[in-house]
Amino acid sequence: MATKRDYYEILGIDKKASQDDIKKAYRKMAMQYHPDRNKAPDAEEKFKEISEAYAVLSDQNKRQQYDQFGHAGIDMRYSQEDIFRGAAPDIEDILRDFGIGGFGGGFGRGRGGSIFDIFFGGEGRREGPRRGSDLLYELAIDLQDAAFGKTVNLEVPRTEKCDTCGGSGAKPGTSPKTCPTCHGSGQVSRTQNTPFGRFMTTTTCGTCKGRGEIIDSPCPTCHGSGMVQKRRKIEVKIPPGVDTGSRLRVPGEGEAGERGAPPGDLYVEIYVKPHPVFTREDNNLIMEATVSFTQAALGDEIIVPTLDGKIEMKIPPGTQNGQVFRLKGKGIPGLHMPGKGDQLVRIKVDVPTKLNDRQKQLLREFAEISGEKRSKGIFEKVKERI
Ligand SMILES: [Zn+2]
Ligand SMILES: [Zn+2]
Repeated sequence: MATKRDYYEILGIDKKASQDDIKKAYRKMAMQYHPDRNKAPDAEEKFKEISEAYAVLSDQNKRQQYDQFGHAGIDMRYSQEDIFRGAAPDIEDILRDFGIGGFGGGFGRGRGGSIFDIFFGGEGRREGPRRGSDLLYELAIDLQDAAFGKTVNLEVPRTEKCDTCGGSGAKPGTSPKTCPTCHGSGQVSRTQNTPFGRFMTTTTCGTCKGRGEIIDSPCPTCHGSGMVQKRRKIEVKIPPGVDTGSRLRVPGEGEAGERGAPPGDLYVEIYVKPHPVFTREDNNLIMEATVSFTQAALGDEIIVPTLDGKIEMKIPPGTQNGQVFRLKGKGIPGLHMPGKGDQLVRIKVDVPTKLNDRQKQLLREFAEISGEKRSKGIFEKVKERI
């Protein structure tokens, strides 16, 4: 496929467009390109393009994902069907608003399907072999793996095509027969004469349950379903930069489709386990380092952990409690983006709670020679209160 055009450009709006603007732009273009109104050969393709742009930009999450990562961010997380699934009712409402005659025969495809069916080959979709279901696998990983990426082997329980019958459901050596009731179409039509005219209704064939074929001798392994349950090891590459909630799509690794139909997709949803040292904010890592008040006052070099080993970090003389130091590029890499976040080290100055006599004496001396006025002031006030 050629490079995809920018969704904003497709709808002729700018990046800051409000939801209202997006809807208006889509409404206008849908009027223009809906294949019911526009008979140009590329109108359907164009209509799909603007509808896809609308489906993404009208959904807060998808829009954000798109703004951040572009088409890659969308295509990796959502299948084409996912993109439309959420927006379909909304799109249908819009089209109904301006009286485009629904979708019954909108594209000359007969069956009253939704916009969803139209974009995904409505014909035969409902009655024909169904695509396999998508699977969702929740995977907990360490922060380390989220930062550097990892290849994992998942054991996924799923339905697969039966090897014995190759998915046909018929005993090896036999084959399914065309259904005698519907002659393979999976549907039966009935014409009714009523006072209002003749109505033709189409229903799913009861003999074959819409399959169009029947099995006389079922496969002994799958008992005619054509599918079996298996635990399958699937290798998944987790890219660096994922976070809790990131979803990775592994195309074709979902459940098997019915009788030769394509399988669903596998989605791996990431959960990043809490780390004992670091908390994550976007791509930055935040940690606290405790130093003594003498280290803070005099400056020092301290050892701090990073995700790729310990390093030395200088703290300058006069470091304050709560001061934050930035270790550039020691954070998490961007998902599908160049560059890395930083590690932020927040200093906590430890004030000693137990001092021996010698230490107390030294500190008093220190107070005297450094800030008498202030110190005296404090001592006086304390005395007054006592
Ligand atoms: Zn079988
Ligand atoms: Zn039938």
